[in-house]
Amino acid sequence: MKLFLASGNAHKAAELQALALAGGLDVEIVSARAVGGMPEVVEDTGTFVGNARKKALALRTKLPTAAWALADDSGLCVDALGGAPGVESAYYAGPQGDAAANLQKLVTVLRDVPDERRVAHFVCVLLLRGPDGAEMIFEGRCVGRLQHEPRGGTGFGYDPLFVPAGQTLSFSELGEAVKNGLSHRARAWALLADWVRAGATVR
Ligand code: IMP
Repeated sequence: MKLFLASGNAHKAAELQALALAGGLDVEIVSARAVGGMPEVVEDTGTFVGNARKKALALRTKLPTAAWALADDSGLCVDALGGAPGVESAYYAGPQGDAAANLQKLVTVLRDVPDERRVAHFVCVLLLRGPDGAEMIFEGRCVGRLQHEPRGGTGFGYDPLFVPAGQTLSFSELGEAVKNGLSHRARAWALLADWVRAGATVR
């Protein structure tokens, strides 16, 4: 089964393909680049599901009628900030979407927040949009806490700051294989994979 990914983020495509391979699922994640690139989408709905739906619908205009679009919308919700940056995670430091600036802003904003109040969770919504308006939504979360300073060299976005529950190292220090075992995206993907497998046996 081919899923056309409604994203220009190469890290996301690689993570999702790795998750499919690790789960032995016969799914190929096809980059939006294969169909001429991801159309520009303004992520202004205020919800992860709404933004994911906008991305999926935008990509579907470029796909054959029978194809499925897969959209991912995700972000980091910090308890001490009332859930911010949340759906604004990619643009926290401004509309240019500069990941390093976003990370630095979060470090600065949380500078005086003590360890016990540095709880946060990642959210990932995976939304599939297929023929005849068919839609499936899968949500995964990963709870953890935020360090005072970024550490580690892998991953993307807020990975260097985020320590998942039960671990002492950040996602960036743990590396992609460990991250892919417990991340918000892995959890949403596990639900999607169950759905694909169930469909495969029903058909
Ligand atoms: P999206 O592309 O609109 O879904 O924006 C997601 C943003 O949330 C990214 O640009 C990152 O800032 C943040 N984010 C989402 N997932 C992760 C992750 O797995 N690690 C680090 N940051 C993430």
